[in-house]
Amino acid sequence: MNDLLPRVSAPAGAESWLHVERWRHLEQTFFSHASRYGFSEVRPPLCEYTDLFSRGVGDTTDIVEKEMYTFEDRGGRHLSLRPEGTASAVRAALEHNALAREPVVRWAYAGPMFRAERPAKGRYRQFHQVGAELYGDASPAADAEMIALAAGFLSALGVNAFRVRVNSLGTRASRKVYRDALIAHFTPQLDALSPESQSRLQRNPLRILDSKDPRDIAAKAGAPSLTDSLSAEDQAHFAAVCAMLDALGVPYTVDPSLVRGLDYYTRTVFEIVDVSGALGAQDALGGGGRYDDLFADLGAAQPVPAVGFAMGIERLLLAAPEASVPRATRVAVVAAARADEQAVLGAALALARDLRGAGVETHVDTRFGSMKSQMRRANDLKVDYVFVLGGNEVAAGTVSLKTMADDVAPEAKQVTLTRAEAIARVLPASR
Ligand code: AMP
Repeated sequence: MNDLLPRVSAPAGAESWLHVERWRHLEQTFFSHASRYGFSEVRPPLCEYTDLFSRGVGDTTDIVEKEMYTFEDRGGRHLSLRPEGTASAVRAALEHNALAREPVVRWAYAGPMFRAERPAKGRYRQFHQVGAELYGDASPAADAEMIALAAGFLSALGVNAFRVRVNSLGTRASRKVYRDALIAHFTPQLDALSPESQSRLQRNPLRILDSKDPRDIAAKAGAPSLTDSLSAEDQAHFAAVCAMLDALGVPYTVDPSLVRGLDYYTRTVFEIVDVSGALGAQDALGGGGRYDDLFADLGAAQPVPAVGFAMGIERLLLAAPEASVPRATRVAVVAAARADEQAVLGAALALARDLRGAGVETHVDTRFGSMKSQMRRANDLKVDYVFVLGGNEVAAGTVSLKTMADDVAPEAKQVTLTRAEAIARVLPASR
């Protein structure tokens, strides 16, 4: 199978995370939840100039160094399929001058991202994220609201076995102090580091802290803590974020080793991991943080404080309970045409049209086989009601309404009603 193909249009019976209804429900839940916090949807393009990501995400990050799908177009321009949404959203905000119209911009998005990683359960080369970005607010309250939004969305999806990890990376100035301290710590043991970390030491020593290589883990012992390099302002900001999370009742743990793999973060970073075990090794559901320098890095005349997060849709679906998609009422219209076949079939189609017009998912087996085969089909489709129309019903303007649920008294199982009464009976409000 082509690893880039989005494997989303799965037939019934396929692995549950492949069901498109669950995707749609997830996205609707996300946007409706985010809109309660004032976020509105944006749709940035899938493809950008490569330079946007090397400047924005950082050219010493794994994403830019190894994982981007980059190509030249006919004009010799270097383009990349987006590996993440934040840089594109900032580019769009700058290009459309979004902050000239609104002092605080709240944007949400959903869509595919592309990274040439080794595919595994929960890790794909085309994967999908929902995300939110907030521009123009430097306050710790904005960070806390973003974390609360992400956690609340998980609860709305029925995902409850998760843990929020938070940390502060400080501003670039305090990170520079820390960088130097780390380089001083690792340099005497340079030869003992993994080859990858050796090459990272001068370029991006923080990433060594992320490494799972046993040689790097051993070398980390006694390394200076990032927390000790934070300025008083960084510390006050982080303490305020934690206090607000407490006030919001969002459970979290402070994890000083959380650095995240993208260069643009400043101050607060967070990650949400699944603790149900459903995801195996790829247990990060999402993550984000503050990125107060990214606007300036991408050419803004003024610095713009910003904070955001993204979550992986495939992983959310692996973690979400199967039953979290509410199912709408589903009905079938069955034609029992012993005589005057065309009139009965036409009436069946018209009845189905009226049901659909009233908002009801309605199935008609337009092959119009025997009544038995139409009933079998309706059963397979797990419909809640069957509307049976024969010549007598057509003549009388009625319909025979059969309830498929087991917990219905026998005398109520099948009743004859006018068509309008029968339609009203199956509308959600009257159930
Ligand atoms: P990141 O942009 O790396 O912080 O990723 C945010 C979230 O996107 C992660 O926590 C995952 O849930 C999801 N994600 C990242 N990379 C992949 C991938 N290759 N396949 C599936 N999900 C991914």
